[in-house]
Amino acid sequence: MTKPILGVSKCLEFENCRYDGKMIGNDFVRKLKDHVDFVPVCPEVGIGLGTPRPPIRLVKIGGEKSLYQPSSGENLTQKMQEFSKMFLDSHKVLDGFILKHSSPSCGVRNVKLYHKIGQAVGYDQSSGMFTEMVLKKFPYIIVEDEARLRNPVLRDSFLTRLYSMTRLRESFESKESLMEFCKDNEMLFMVYDQSGPKKLEALLSQFSEDGFEEKFTATVYDILNKIPSADALNSTYVYIFSLLEDKITLPEKEYFANMIRDFSQGLVLPSQVSTLLYSWALRFDMKSIISQTIFEPYPKGLVPISPESRKYSLIDLNKI
Ligand code: SF4
Repeated sequence: MTKPILGVSKCLEFENCRYDGKMIGNDFVRKLKDHVDFVPVCPEVGIGLGTPRPPIRLVKIGGEKSLYQPSSGENLTQKMQEFSKMFLDSHKVLDGFILKHSSPSCGVRNVKLYHKIGQAVGYDQSSGMFTEMVLKKFPYIIVEDEARLRNPVLRDSFLTRLYSMTRLRESFESKESLMEFCKDNEMLFMVYDQSGPKKLEALLSQFSEDGFEEKFTATVYDILNKIPSADALNSTYVYIFSLLEDKITLPEKEYFANMIRDFSQGLVLPSQVSTLLYSWALRFDMKSIISQTIFEPYPKGLVPISPESRKYSLIDLNKI
């Protein structure tokens, strides 16, 4: 798999650059180091603030969202805008970004934007000033807040979208490679949006038109920009099974029927169903199924190890 190019707030695992002179340990970022090309950045150090430094905050000044340092009274807005522009202009390709939660520079959402300068004033929720510029320049990159990535469902969604958009970026070199991208991702896209593959197929006819790349990227982004339901995953598994059905035995068909029923009741994991389907596809050499990204949307090394498998890995056979 091509490695995604992933921006990251530098204080996550890379440098002691926080306002308090510390770094924040992050297991997920550490694990990703083998699988992505990181682009670490600390916008506050980038605008010349030292470490440690007095805190800064977002404040409305003259009705405008501004970056303000209460201890010095300095308005840092222009410096931050200039630094962000320079950083973004020097990085033509970014597939995603992991940003520090609630920072006035890096926060993605839920950053306090105070109504005015002073103590004990009200605030709204906003995004950090650097992040706002990242999103303006790259509207289709996969951005997530490090705190939200502790949730396994959001983490799985982040990784699936990140690797899918990276594969897409690599596929624009020719119409053939884009068609292959659509073919290999068909079943993954069906989980997110039943009509997704058809929408993309229709768009392919505009391959040579101006603005095609952006239109196609926006459509893939929209298809994946949701958390798929268990029902949609169930329907996709049943669809894959329908392609294999006439090749397997009656007891195998019965086994699958029981498994999919248990899956719909939450008694069986998605990985158990997909492993079974994949093994049949391998047995009958069904390349159109084997190549589907739904079976491995991102590198195996990033799949969380379940407590159950950890338990087995700790068994010492000599002591049984
Ligand atoms: S949150 Fe952003 S600006 Fe603040 S220390 Fe981390 S990287 Fe630097």
